[in-house]
Amino acid sequence: MSAITKIPFISMSSICVSAVGVVAVALLILYRYFSLPSLRRRWEANPVSAQLSSADHERLRRWQARDMALFVTIMVSVIAFWPALGIGLLPTGALVPGYVFLMGLATVGLAHHFALSCPVCGRNIGLQSGLALPRHCEVCRTALR
Ligand SMILES: [Zn+2]
Repeated sequence: MSAITKIPFISMSSICVSAVGVVAVALLILYRYFSLPSLRRRWEANPVSAQLSSADHERLRRWQARDMALFVTIMVSVIAFWPALGIGLLPTGALVPGYVFLMGLATVGLAHHFALSCPVCGRNIGLQSGLALPRHCEVCRTALR
């Protein structure tokens, strides 16, 4: 593949990956919105009284610290990479690896963000918050911070 054809390929790949990302986020928002009432009704019909242990709080605190660190790393990488791509600072040989690195980093960040659930009711924490811990679980109302 010549250097001239790599740029449109990267642009098209970037547009496709971005479109898939937008659709995935939209589906997650819809899932959160439509699943919440039934989960709340189910929880309120059969609530379980539970206090978070200090180990639970520590696990939540560590998840939040990693979530913030991954977010900052991804944003710094995007800010550093995209202008270099736009004005041609990077050699064409570095475009594909740089793009793959960014997509990999974003995938790791998203996988981490959605990896934790409420210790009491099991509702995914990543669905409840765009970044970091919410104050309370939206289903069981347990204080998470
Ligand atoms: Zn909960």
